[in-house]
Amino acid sequence: MSSTDTTNASILVLEDEAEIARLICGSLSEYGFRCDHLTTGRQLLDRARRATPDLCIVDLGLPDMDGMQVVRELQEGSPCAVLILTGRNDVTDRVLGLELGADDYIVKPFEPRELVARVRSILRRYQRAAASDASDTARTIARFAGWTFDRGLHALTAPDGREVNLSAAEAGLLLTLLQRPNRILSREQLLGERDVDPFDRSIDVRMSRLRRKLDDDPHDPKLIKTVYGAGYLFTAQVAWD
Ligand code: CA
Repeated sequence: MSSTDTTNASILVLEDEAEIARLICGSLSEYGFRCDHLTTGRQLLDRARRATPDLCIVDLGLPDMDGMQVVRELQEGSPCAVLILTGRNDVTDRVLGLELGADDYIVKPFEPRELVARVRSILRRYQRAAASDASDTARTIARFAGWTFDRGLHALTAPDGREVNLSAAEAGLLLTLLQRPNRILSREQLLGERDVDPFDRSIDVRMSRLRRKLDDDPHDPKLIKTVYGAGYLFTAQVAWD
């Protein structure tokens, strides 16, 4: 992907209904995205293992396996961005998807233009994270409150030496907090977007997931504090080396 546009991105579309797949790939191709269509979870996981795509669009209702399982397994390989496509207009599913590390979700039936806008927004977020990584490669290991985070490997190590798995989305969020400790960060800053839907809970879901992984009590968080009406505050001292 170039640093100035997202249209070179490679996108894998997992959707078992041919007509919907045609609609998705048609819309994305129209905007210049490279798009490949797969119909089973296994096919997608095999493909993603051979060459990590920039983004996977994953339908939850599949013939061979649960789409949630696909999202989970994608995060275990080399993580890529994930957009969930669901016909089930069910909040629990959506929250679970985000908890598993998906970046966003879209509910069927959807406007093709909205799909393209969501895809662009996710890819831009990843590009910005990659650009800030590249401009700051010397400082790769962050130490805070006994924890260690290797930004290159997305590896989080607990004070007791335990390795903690982070999704790409969680690692990006942690990195943003570590780069600006002891400062209130708004949802917009954390998502890297100007227009954040005030009802969008994705950042809160991701934050509570990250807190749990950092053993931070959600009822009395010490590391990541919620500042009501303003955003979040990372309270630890951060040392980079
Ligand atoms: Ca389906």
